[in-house]
Amino acid sequence: MAKSAQLQESNLLKDIIAHAKEYGFVYPSSEIYDGLQAVYDYGPYGVELKNNLKRLWWESMTRLNDNIVGLDSAIFMHPTTWKASGHVDSFNDPMVDNKDSKKRYRADVLIEEKAAQYEQAGEVERAKELLAAMGKLLDAEDFAALRDLMINEGITCPLSGTANWTEIRQFNLMFSTQVGSVSEDSSTIYLRPETAQGIFVNFLNVQKTARMKVPFGIAQIGKAFRNEIVARQFIFRMREFEQMEMQYFVRPGTEMEWYSRWADTRVKWHKALGIPEEKIRRHDHDKLAHYANAALDIEYQFPFGFKEVEGIHSRTDFDLKAHQEYSKKKQQYFDPEVNQNYIPYVIETSIGADRLFLMTLCNAYTEEQTGEKSRVYLKFHPALAPVKAAILPLTKKDGLPEKAKAIFEDMKYDFNIIYEEAASIGKRYARQDLIGTPFCIAVDHQTLEDDTVTIRHRDSTEQERVAISDLHGRLSAACSYRTVFEKI
Ligand code: ATP
Repeated sequence: MAKSAQLQESNLLKDIIAHAKEYGFVYPSSEIYDGLQAVYDYGPYGVELKNNLKRLWWESMTRLNDNIVGLDSAIFMHPTTWKASGHVDSFNDPMVDNKDSKKRYRADVLIEEKAAQYEQAGEVERAKELLAAMGKLLDAEDFAALRDLMINEGITCPLSGTANWTEIRQFNLMFSTQVGSVSEDSSTIYLRPETAQGIFVNFLNVQKTARMKVPFGIAQIGKAFRNEIVARQFIFRMREFEQMEMQYFVRPGTEMEWYSRWADTRVKWHKALGIPEEKIRRHDHDKLAHYANAALDIEYQFPFGFKEVEGIHSRTDFDLKAHQEYSKKKQQYFDPEVNQNYIPYVIETSIGADRLFLMTLCNAYTEEQTGEKSRVYLKFHPALAPVKAAILPLTKKDGLPEKAKAIFEDMKYDFNIIYEEAASIGKRYARQDLIGTPFCIAVDHQTLEDDTVTIRHRDSTEQERVAISDLHGRLSAACSYRTVFEKI
């Protein structure tokens, strides 16, 4: 990518981050103490947007599929869980420091960036070879050779410009803490690095109590924690984040069919939320995690390039088998259709709520120039918008506030709406644009005569006159999740 385009894109990200803070979407955590790296808080509009995204995902899974049910498992789990899942031994990233800048990096990310540069320059084969070489060395845990590879490829620190690298060390991403108040009795437990294991260890509980038949799915939304080595891209990579995962249990041998079905469904879901075709792509993994026999990422074109938003993984029977082995409890399902006991195979769809939030925000952020006038607005799908409508009396007198408040009181039970009477109507429209409210409902003198109001549409700025009695139906139609579900 040309330097000027890169600069423009990094400015765009800066603008989005500034907008998110200024208008109550995302704040740095504990900001009065200068923040905590890679941890963020969601403000009043941010939490509404995030809740809408989570609700939409939840209902897409559990309501649209009568064979998917929900679960809310604890963050803390028995420590053996993480031994069985492989996280204690292999949830590591290769860490390297530049001795001159003292900055820390993930060696694999630096190499991947180099490969992306080759690809952009048209050297596709060279990029592939580099990634393959890295994959081999990572598998063999040959970190001395990995460091040589970095040096031979001329990979330098973006800050110091030197290749004065330390040794590469493995770094486990799990946060640990002690449980138990008396030190002799205490034992090390972990903050879960993924929500999936809570689903696996409850597989039989759910199957039996909800009387599920394979194929069936379990969906869960919850916090996950990773001590990320490098966390510099706003809420893209956080140390505390939220995952929305669904594990789909299938008969062995049918997993590839389900894998491709779920990949298609999830891509469609993103498009139904308004992500344009050209900004979303699938990226098949060449190098598979220890538990997978197929995997792909759904990537979005963020201002810093195409990056993963969601992972679709065919996890085989790896996890259930490992839990069976470590717990000594059978993790089998009796399939009456084939009259057989087996450990089901699993297809996983795993998306970060925060990355989805960032994608939604980037996709919505619009700077518009018409003639002399410029306008910034957030073009959220109405089903996702934090505030659905603002009820605005044209002036503060002549009974208009009373009329507007009556509309507000009537509609507040069904929609998240706000009432505002301060400042000129133009300023109030602009403020709603900045938080992405799709509809502004103005109450004027004509309203007192004929019970009609104007609706001003955020994206087109067009206004139309409608009867108050139609407002509820209009908002329901535009903001209902159904508008998204019907496209999946
Ligand atoms: P990456 O390659 O970006 O580190 P990953 O492949 O480790 O991601 P998964 O383990 O597949 O990610 O996790 C599933 C999803 O959880 C990701 O697609 C992403 O949306 C989200 N996620 C993972 N790590 C983070 C993080 N540190 N901050 C925010 N979201 C995350």
